[in-house]
Amino acid sequence: MAITPFHPPQRVLMGPGPSDVSPRVLEALSRPTIGHLDPVFVSFMDEMKVLLKFAFQTDNELTMPVSAPGSAGMETCFVNLVEPGDKVIVCQNGVFGGRMKENVERIGGIAVMVQDDWGRAVDPQKLEDALKANPDTKVVAFVHAETSTGAQSDAKTLVEIAHKYHCLTIVDAVTSLGGTPLKVDEWNIDAIYSGTQKCLSCTPGLSPVSFSPNAQEKIKNRKTRVQSWFMDLNLVMGYWGGATKRAYHHTAPINALYGLHEALVMLQEEGLHNAWARHHNNHLALRAGLEAMGLNFVVPEAERLPQLNAISVPDGVDEAAVRSILLSDYHLEIGAGLGAMAGKVWRIGLMGHASNPRNVRLCLNALDDVLVRLKAPIKHGVAVDAANRKLAD
Ligand SMILES: *Cc1c(COP(=O)(O)O)cnc(C)c1O
Repeated sequence: MAITPFHPPQRVLMGPGPSDVSPRVLEALSRPTIGHLDPVFVSFMDEMKVLLKFAFQTDNELTMPVSAPGSAGMETCFVNLVEPGDKVIVCQNGVFGGRMKENVERIGGIAVMVQDDWGRAVDPQKLEDALKANPDTKVVAFVHAETSTGAQSDAKTLVEIAHKYHCLTIVDAVTSLGGTPLKVDEWNIDAIYSGTQKCLSCTPGLSPVSFSPNAQEKIKNRKTRVQSWFMDLNLVMGYWGGATKRAYHHTAPINALYGLHEALVMLQEEGLHNAWARHHNNHLALRAGLEAMGLNFVVPEAERLPQLNAISVPDGVDEAAVRSILLSDYHLEIGAGLGAMAGKVWRIGLMGHASNPRNVRLCLNALDDVLVRLKAPIKHGVAVDAANRKLAD
C-alpha cells in the first residue's frame, strides 16, 4: 500500500512545548529556500542577530541560533565554557538541572549539586554556601524557568552571587524567553540558551544562544579543544560571525530560520513588555478558573511561572485518562508530570501564541467537562466565570 501525505490534526497546544505556532510563522517556513551563503541570506542572518539581541536584551556580539533544539543550546554552553577538571555548581530544582549535571560530567568536569525541592525556586543562600565551600568553582549553572515544575528562579540574584565568587554563569532560558522578564545584559548573564518552541511560538529545532565578552574570553583562552566539532563556537563563528567573511560550517536550516525570524518580528511588533504582560494576565485568568474549580497549584504564588502552570491531580483521578479525553474530544494537549512529578501533576502551558483568553476559556471548559465526567471532586460550572472576571479587570 502506498503511503500517502501526512496531514496532522489541528491541535491546541497547551503543554510544556511545543506551543501553538502562528499561521504567520507557518507561512514564513514555506518561502523559497535559498543558499546559505547567498548574499540575501547573509543580510537576513544579520537581521536575525539584531532580533535575537532584542529578545535577549543584550548587545552581545556572540548571539545566534544554534541549528538544533534547546538541548543542543544547553550542550553548546557547557562544552564551550567547561573544560575537563573544572568545577561547576549546578543548582537543581527539577528535571533540567539534572541534564546540566550530565553535561558537566560528560565533559570531564566536576558537578557540585545544590538541590532545592521540586516546585520551588533555587535558594540563593544555598548557592552562596556552596560557593563558600567550593572556592575553586569556575561556573555556576541554573534553570531560570523550570518547565518540569513551573517554578521561576531569581536569575539576577543568582548571577550576582556567582560573580561575587568570580564564576561565569550558564542560564537555561528555554521557557523564559519571550514569556517572562529576562534581561541578559542588565543581569550580567554570561552564557544563555533558549528554544524556539516555547514562548517564541516557533517550530521546534532551533536554540538561540548568547555569550558575554567574558564568556567569549574564556572560550578563546581554553587550554583544551572543545570536545564537540559541531558546537565549537570558535568554528561556528566563522559562519555566524559579524566582521569576518562567512565561511561554510554546516548548512543552516534555512526555512526554519525564516520561521524564527517571523516569530521574532512578531515579538518586536507586540513589544517585549506587552508580551510579558500578556503571559502574566492570561496566567491570572487561568489560575482564577482553576482555583474556582478547586484545583491547586504546585508552586507557591511568588515563585510561579506564568507560562507553565503545574496543577496537582486530585486524589483518585486517573491523570492520563484526563489528558487522553482532552486530546480526543477537544483536540487539546496539556502536559503530564515529569520525573519525580510523573502521575501527580498536570502541566498547562500558556506559551507564546497559545497564551490568549480563548485558550484559557477552552481549557477551563474542557477540564470542567472531563473532570465531571470522571466524577472528580471539583466545583462544576464556575471556572470560566471566574476567568472572565479576571480577564475583565
Ligand atoms: C524544553 C526545555 C529544554 C529542552 O529543549 P528541547 O528543544 O526540547 O531540546 C531545556 N530546558 C528547559 C527548561 C526546557 O523547558
